[in-house]
Amino acid sequence: MKPVLALVGRPNVGKSTLFNRLTRSRDAIVADFSGLTRDRQYGEGKGGDKPYIVIDTGGLEGGEKGIDFEMASQSLLAIEEADVVLLLVDGRAGLNPGDTQIVEHLRKLGKPAHLVVNKVDGIDEEVAMGDFYGLGLEQVFPITASQGRGVKKLLDSVLIGFPEPVPEDERAAEGIRIAIAGRPNVGKSTLVNRMLGEDRVVVFDEGGTTRDSVYIPFERHGNRYTLIDTAGIRRRGKTTETVEKFSVVKSLTAIQDANVVILVVDARTGIVEQDLHLLGYVVDAGRALVIALNKWDGMDTEQKERIKSDIRRRFAFVDFAAIHFISAMHGTGVGDLYKSVHIAYDSAKRDLGTNMLTKTLQDAVLDHSPPMINGRRIKLRYAHAGGQNPPIIVIHGKQTDKLPDSYKRYLEKTFRKVLKLEGTPVKIELRSDD
Ligand code: GDP
Ligand code: GDP
Repeated sequence: MKPVLALVGRPNVGKSTLFNRLTRSRDAIVADFSGLTRDRQYGEGKGGDKPYIVIDTGGLEGGEKGIDFEMASQSLLAIEEADVVLLLVDGRAGLNPGDTQIVEHLRKLGKPAHLVVNKVDGIDEEVAMGDFYGLGLEQVFPITASQGRGVKKLLDSVLIGFPEPVPEDERAAEGIRIAIAGRPNVGKSTLVNRMLGEDRVVVFDEGGTTRDSVYIPFERHGNRYTLIDTAGIRRRGKTTETVEKFSVVKSLTAIQDANVVILVVDARTGIVEQDLHLLGYVVDAGRALVIALNKWDGMDTEQKERIKSDIRRRFAFVDFAAIHFISAMHGTGVGDLYKSVHIAYDSAKRDLGTNMLTKTLQDAVLDHSPPMINGRRIKLRYAHAGGQNPPIIVIHGKQTDKLPDSYKRYLEKTFRKVLKLEGTPVKIELRSDD
């Protein structure tokens, strides 16, 4: 599982600048999904071969009034669940009482943190850092988030204890890994039980962290699967709706580790912001996606029509995903999910040959050529596969960095249609050979 790094610090110390640097992926694009609420607080990146998840906790305010624990509850939960906390301070401003307060709060949470002294450009590093040694944090890293100085060293140090990920081909015994994601009370655990075809003997797990999902291997019609259950285990027969702490970290790590995500949405409450955030994570992670609109039982025609049109409109940016109307409680439609899971998985893991990709690219260019930039036409020469789950299509040419977004979308759409890539995001990476 990928380690989770949480960025903590007062406003203006440079958290979002560092976040952007840590999550910047080369020239990869997932076609621009208009309509998606971009949640810039959570992202992923790589330090060498080691992938990680990074969270900009944003919400911590230092200052005279102290930290408002209630206001910052989601941030605090993220801090609790993070593997590594990076406390950012402003090397130019010097030690601020807010920094000291944040350190005290981290101590109370029992969270070890690394101290990151930012903005050391143009000032004496040693002097700037000297101010902060009194905070008593073990490791101190001087960086400039805006230029990236010191960031690699920081990453190498914090990632050192974490293992490299197990390669996908060594995980074949797990079968298709399916994460069941969704906000609280949409019916995830009901669906998990349904999919396993029995009432699991469950143990109510009171202790431990909220962040770990449960992995459940099972077989169906001779196929192997592993369900990644983010719901948490409920006491058997417990019917009351629980107000659980919604763990973003748990959802993120489960989505990242899955091949296919079944996103469960409550048809009765309709689509809310949190559903869109989760969809955003799935798309960012490049995971194959199936949408399950749950609690379809007992709804009247008018309600059904309303939610259907709502879905069409608000989920338009994930129109590659199959939408199922199900009742996890009664089992209606649950078996059909598997068909879409397989279609999505097969698309996500398809071997895309260079000839086929290049031919598709060239046909697309013939049909509709890229624009001229400064009197020179953008050239797109050939394409090859760059990865699976999500399929990555690498396109080589000249001036590709100038290619308009609308053209990228056109290419993505064309590849998707010609290659019949269903149920998965497709990533296009542009390379310039000039
Ligand atoms: P946040 O509120 O903690 O997320 O801080 P931001 O990332 O928004 O940065 C606050 C300000 O500090 C912005 O004006 C940044 O351009 C600036 N900044 C960030 N990193 C550096 C740095 O390494 N050096 C300098 N000089 N300024 C920086
Ligand atoms: P989770 O928090 O996402 O795991 O949600 P649960 O599986 O615990 O379900 C939350 C509530 O919704 C429970 O009271 C369930 O009985 C109810 N529920 C789940 N699936 C359905 C369904 O298909 N139809 C109806 N009417 N209620 C459902």
